[in-house]
Amino acid sequence: MAGRKTILLSNFIAPDSRDPRLNIKSRYRMLVDGKSVDAASGRTIDRVSPGHAGVVVGTWPEASADDVRLAIAAARRAFDTGPWPRMSGAERSRLMFKVADLILAHQEELALAESLEVGKPIAQARGEIGFCADLWSYAAGQARALEGQSHNNIGDDRLGLVLREPVGVVGIITPWNFPFIIASERVPWAIGAGCTVVLKPSEFTSGTSIRMAELAREAGIPDGVFNVVTGYGDPAGQVLAEDPGVDMVAFTGSVRVGTRLGEIAARSVKRVGLELGGKGPQIVFADADLDAAADGIAYGVYHNAGQCCISGSRLLVEESIRDALMERLLDISRKVTFGDPLNERTRIGAMISEAHAQKVHSYVEAGVAAGAELLLGGERVGREAGLYYAPTVFAGVTPDMSIAREEIFGPVLSTLTFRTAEEAVAMANATEFGLSASVWSTNLENALQSIRRIRAGRCWINSVIDGTPELPIGGYKKSGLGRELGRYGFDEYSQFKGVHVTLGRPAPWFA
Ligand code: NAD
Repeated sequence: MAGRKTILLSNFIAPDSRDPRLNIKSRYRMLVDGKSVDAASGRTIDRVSPGHAGVVVGTWPEASADDVRLAIAAARRAFDTGPWPRMSGAERSRLMFKVADLILAHQEELALAESLEVGKPIAQARGEIGFCADLWSYAAGQARALEGQSHNNIGDDRLGLVLREPVGVVGIITPWNFPFIIASERVPWAIGAGCTVVLKPSEFTSGTSIRMAELAREAGIPDGVFNVVTGYGDPAGQVLAEDPGVDMVAFTGSVRVGTRLGEIAARSVKRVGLELGGKGPQIVFADADLDAAADGIAYGVYHNAGQCCISGSRLLVEESIRDALMERLLDISRKVTFGDPLNERTRIGAMISEAHAQKVHSYVEAGVAAGAELLLGGERVGREAGLYYAPTVFAGVTPDMSIAREEIFGPVLSTLTFRTAEEAVAMANATEFGLSASVWSTNLENALQSIRRIRAGRCWINSVIDGTPELPIGGYKKSGLGRELGRYGFDEYSQFKGVHVTLGRPAPWFA
């Protein structure tokens, strides 16, 4: 087996505390009914850059339940009496294209804020903002193509119409790992369908979501259509789930909170969309291009410091090629640059919070205690400078270990081996999650047959964490309910009304 446990500090890019971009200290206000507002209490939340110890980079309001209710009331008015739901698709589309253009025009500013709030590499953040403009563009294009159906085959004297209508007011609750992307995967689909929105981003990373709504206002999206409230899960998020003025809750985050919101929604028979956790398998067959697979596996597990719901955190490798693959993977893992999010060369940035870094480390300790072989990493680095965790690789993992089953949400790879395709698929399916999966093979038939048997909503053959607005995303099993993106994404935010039209005189019931 190639590799011993080593941490190469030479790959660690120490954050530069004199970087002038750290003086940003942005002060944000919530956007409610087209106006920028503070919490009525005046309370705020400070965000310290996770990559730069002690440096506050953004401040936003801490909304109370009443602050959120004002935003819900604004969204309700905009839906019930405002122009948006009644506007033509073409007009909605035109305004949404403008939002996409404005996002691109502010790419650098948004990328810097996203990088500082989340701790992600600036180059990655820049790419993500570009992708978000594309998400808005796609949804803008589709917004004028949404249609219902007609049924002209139900009898000569009858015509059936299926009207597509917006669901109403949607509460969108997002996590901290990809704030701008996750909001861009939901808000344009919801408003494109004619809904109005109250977005509650994570309390850790709220700034860029506020900027998104401000850009939408600048583009001419009417007041009250896209509101943003900031604050803690309870009360701000919880009110969105509980308030009868909200018709649907679209939640992205942990299984723990998602389950709770599902229960609340069930009590009031409110529509709910849930995108929750994952434990993505990456299956590598012996016939795979091993260089490409090793590169993809590294990307899949280290991207966003592993804080990614579709992270490929479980490597399932065919036994005969394990050593050859691990040699390549360890080589990349030893060389990959991690550290300062503002350095253009950085590939892996910081962890979101001290508590989360500790949680990741406790999983690593559990893996060691359970007898897994720690080949690389497994410790925090540059602790005085920020929240950094070294790229970490485990081999000799067995399916019963917590590091094989549970979502670690850090740059930690768990490697297991298999002998047959059936065994690989069974192992891939042996978690409570079903969000994503990758298969690496040069035999397309074999790869497709495996993918068909894996219970996961977002799958890749010979790639990982790839995405395009056209294809749906979403979870099987405990990874969630519903689908976002593509044409399917609009159905989540649509009601379908059947209209029976009688042509001519109906046959009498009581003659
Ligand atoms: P989290 O569940 O702690 O928080 C997500 C959001 O819910 C935040 O805005 C938070 O303030 C809010 N929230 C917390 N308590 C709430 C409550 N009682 N009522 C209403 N809202 C509440 O998740 P997180 O730590 O921000 O994100 C990490 C998790 O999100 C991981 O499990 C990850 O897999 C998952 N995630 C899933 C996807 C996906 O598309 N499936 C994408 C990204 C992250």
